[in-house]
Amino acid sequence: MAKSAWNFIDGKWQTSSSGEIFESRNPADQRDVIGNYPESNQADVEKAVQAAEAAYTDWRLVPPPKRADIILKASRILLERKETIARLMTREMGKVLKEARGDVQEAIDMAQYVAGEGRRLFGQTTTSELRNKFAMTVRMPIGICGLITPWNFPVAIPSWKILPALICGNTVVFKPAEDTPACAVEFVKALEDAGLPRGVVNMIHGGVIAGEAIVHHPKIRLVSFTGSSEVGRKVASQCGKNLKRCSLEMGGKNAQIVMEDADLELALEGALWGAFGTSGQRCTATSRIYVHQKLYDRFRRTLVERAKKLVLGNGIKAGVDVGPVINGEQLKRIHHYVEIGVREGAKLECGGRILKSKGLERGFFYEPTIFTQVKPEMTIMREEIFGPVTCIMPIKNFDQAIQEVNRTDYGLSSSIYTHDIDRAMKAIRDIEAGITYINGPTIGAEVHLPFGGVKCTGNGHREAGETALDIFSEWKSVFIDYSGKLQKAQIDAD
Ligand code: NAD
Repeated sequence: MAKSAWNFIDGKWQTSSSGEIFESRNPADQRDVIGNYPESNQADVEKAVQAAEAAYTDWRLVPPPKRADIILKASRILLERKETIARLMTREMGKVLKEARGDVQEAIDMAQYVAGEGRRLFGQTTTSELRNKFAMTVRMPIGICGLITPWNFPVAIPSWKILPALICGNTVVFKPAEDTPACAVEFVKALEDAGLPRGVVNMIHGGVIAGEAIVHHPKIRLVSFTGSSEVGRKVASQCGKNLKRCSLEMGGKNAQIVMEDADLELALEGALWGAFGTSGQRCTATSRIYVHQKLYDRFRRTLVERAKKLVLGNGIKAGVDVGPVINGEQLKRIHHYVEIGVREGAKLECGGRILKSKGLERGFFYEPTIFTQVKPEMTIMREEIFGPVTCIMPIKNFDQAIQEVNRTDYGLSSSIYTHDIDRAMKAIRDIEAGITYINGPTIGAEVHLPFGGVKCTGNGHREAGETALDIFSEWKSVFIDYSGKLQKAQIDAD
């Protein structure tokens, strides 16, 4: 087995018990094999859980500033290796190099932010209703966390989960997406090289079998999942049966509003980046655009012109705007949605084709695609496509825009372009989403702010920011009675 074909359990790189492997290949050129990775099963998860359980005994007692030292060291290692990891990411996941650098940078930012928590992890001190009694809250670790991630942010998303879990004193069984195992290895190596004690983070490669084994394992007290709503529902129901803590970050159908007073150029730039950045494979991608009727024609015409000019290709090459999509299955899925859009009566303004022209024939390239003449009930306006496809619809006024934006099962990100402060404030208040941008695209998270969504996008948690700590710790209320006598709350009154 090639060296890349290793899980990381109890501080050792090792093969899976099944002996089976899967390949990771470059989505821009399928001839390019990145490596072989183990198809893990229940037995591997069991080993990882045992290692995490043994490591937990001490890790929970390591002072958080010492945990932070390791995380900070990992951030420096990631910074040193940023270019190498970014290039690997472009090769393995397909996003263009400057976006891959941003992905690694996000993990560095997260490590720095989380390391600061080592000297905070604040609780509260408060009053007691009884004399000579002290009350406070402290954060406690949960135990072993099962962390399951998607492929679209192959370093950033693992960092969003693993690092807050670690600073809170938990140990981890991590299963990265099967499309991006090499990137996950690089992230875990940075933690290993930073001196993380063995067993604190264990990584299991594989797909559904390994994922399900994590979700079902009785000793894993928390599952944090990012991925599709379809799988998220399964994860949540299994966790529900076992009364296991579960945090979910799932899909989006994010909308941008462009009002008649908007800076048109800015709104166009934002839409182009929001819809076609990362080939539309961001949970926050702009897949619906509502434009005031006064600007609609100009906006539509210009966005279509610019989408047609986007350069598709291998993201490692300078000058490429849009890379491939992740795999053949996803390529077919995107095209299937486009066909449904046409069948349901939407007008295809540009794109709509799988590209096989010279230089693209060995990869999974989909033309940036724009639909108009769309109706709210159309499939392409309701379901997450997760590809370079967006829809533009004219709106008459602000109230209609808000109504349309909210007409979705999802609620991750949203944006409005306007110079009217009243409208901006009303949009912040009335849009049902976890994130609202004013005069910016629907994409652009920063690690120190909570990230997540409402409705079917999530189940009430927020990653990143201080709120990530609420996912990965349990509150304990502590009472210290120094009266020397039995005092009864609610009963003894002075
Ligand atoms: P996916 O749901 O297919 O897979 C996600 C992860 O779950 C993978 O590691 C996969 O192996 C694992 N998995 C699959 N079946 C499983 C099962 N039955 N039990 C346990 N684990 C299982 O998603 P994907 O295709 O990797 O990612 C794309 C999706 O992720 C999109 O829907 C996107 O919107 C979403 N996403 C959401 C956010 C967010 O923060 N809201 C961020 C990025 C991506």
